[in-house]
Amino acid sequence: MTLTYQPTASHFVNGRYVEDTDGARIDVIYPHTGAVIATVHAATPALIDEALASAKAAQVEWAARSGTERGRVLRYAADIMRQRNRELSHLETHDTGKPLSETLVADAASGADALEYFGGLAGTLTGEHIPLSDGDFVYTRREPLGVCVGLGAWNYPIQIASWKAAPALACGNAVVFKPSEMTPLSALKLAEILMEAGAPAGLFNVLQGAGDVGAALVTDPRVAKVSLTGSVPTGRKVYAAAADGIRHVTMELGGKSPIVVFDDAHLENAVSAAINGNFYSTGQICSNGTRVFVHDAIYDAFVARVAQRMDGAVIGDPMDEATTVGPMVSARQREIVAGYITAGREEGARLVKGGAMLDGDGFYIEPALFADVTDEMRIAREEIFGPVMSVLRFHEEAEVVARANATEFGLAAGVFTSDLTRAHRVAAAFEAGTCYINAYNLTPVEAPFGGVKASGVGRENSKAAIEHYTQIKTVYVGMNDTEAAF
Ligand code: NDP
Repeated sequence: MTLTYQPTASHFVNGRYVEDTDGARIDVIYPHTGAVIATVHAATPALIDEALASAKAAQVEWAARSGTERGRVLRYAADIMRQRNRELSHLETHDTGKPLSETLVADAASGADALEYFGGLAGTLTGEHIPLSDGDFVYTRREPLGVCVGLGAWNYPIQIASWKAAPALACGNAVVFKPSEMTPLSALKLAEILMEAGAPAGLFNVLQGAGDVGAALVTDPRVAKVSLTGSVPTGRKVYAAAADGIRHVTMELGGKSPIVVFDDAHLENAVSAAINGNFYSTGQICSNGTRVFVHDAIYDAFVARVAQRMDGAVIGDPMDEATTVGPMVSARQREIVAGYITAGREEGARLVKGGAMLDGDGFYIEPALFADVTDEMRIAREEIFGPVMSVLRFHEEAEVVARANATEFGLAAGVFTSDLTRAHRVAAAFEAGTCYINAYNLTPVEAPFGGVKASGVGRENSKAAIEHYTQIKTVYVGMNDTEAAF
């Protein structure tokens, strides 16, 4: 392997790399070859304690700095991330298997955007002045929460770490972050970069481990907030554990999002959106539009065009910049996806194209296109988290909106139409946190991102994230004599 930009130990605690081989061994597998490319160890209780203690201490010092000073550190970290984008992208491609053509533009790059955006906002955070009668007044202080725990999924490791770190730190909090055990490497680089940019030791710590390490963090009394990006079942567990300590939460969970294509849609744009919204990152994206509802009148043309465009997919070595579809993150995830493809066929959906597991040591599976999918099929109801597009047929607006909303999830939804009023009417009717009109799956840092229903609570990105990393203190100022009944 040609990786020269590897972390030098398993954890990053109190401003430095730390190794502790007493923790369970976790092998990092390169999904292209199945080879072990690195080994880390899970955090021991002693290390968890050290990380939380150092975060607690660093938070006090950090919160005493002005917002502008904090923001300067974040903006410098963004610059360093951009300078090292290629090295970070190599690392991310080896950790996740995602093609370099994607990681170069979507992973560390969006992490840097978050650091820059929240770095800019940090100096603007203020409370309010509220005038009352007879000269009394209230002012509010927007205060940090304290120590925040971040728990990450494996599909966008450095982006997820940055999307949690940037608003948390901008608001004066400290963070202990646990990446997915499948993709432990790049969050360590974020820690290294933040230190280099001037963050105090202990402000951003990274601990490795599986769910048990996450659970130990979530229940520690020193923790004020938990932000999870993960599946709905994990979300239920983490939310419940956090509730026991009355902790703040942000839950970014799974989805089964609809893309609705009306007969007046720009067909080629809708096809492009469906391809991006199902096959980018080999389908491992929470907000993917995996239920594509297409109007009767254009159904056959749509399916035919998607199938034709799939011939252009370049599946293979993710380090080759011409590659557009890489392997799945793990053998297990590929098995799960293959199981859904079998279920789709057994339940009567028409496999138009793809879906085969490719020979070799890598975890490759061809993108799959299913037509004639109906609402009750498993592939139309359950989150697959792989490159499987289901195309369903619809006849009219009210029917398709009801069907689009008939799911426990509510992360995203898209509509393609050239009818202006219909576009806004349908967007308003969607039960989803992020809706798209004639676009899909774009997540600029300026826009709130998050789900409704089982897809989550809270919002990441944008000014909305500030509400989730601060709390308001009310200070009532009496300017008059205090009266009492006796
Ligand atoms: P998981 O829910 O399996 O894991 C998420 C994180 O939580 C991991 O770091 C995991 O550790 C940890 N964890 C697991 N159990 C516990 C526990 N009891 N207490 C504390 N932490 C725990 O998600 P995946 O990694 O499989 O990611 C895929 C899922 O993430 C999909 O459902 C996808 O939709 C969702 N996702 C949502 C996004 C959003 O923004 N809404 C974005 C990206 C993905 P470990 O895995 O190491 O055991």
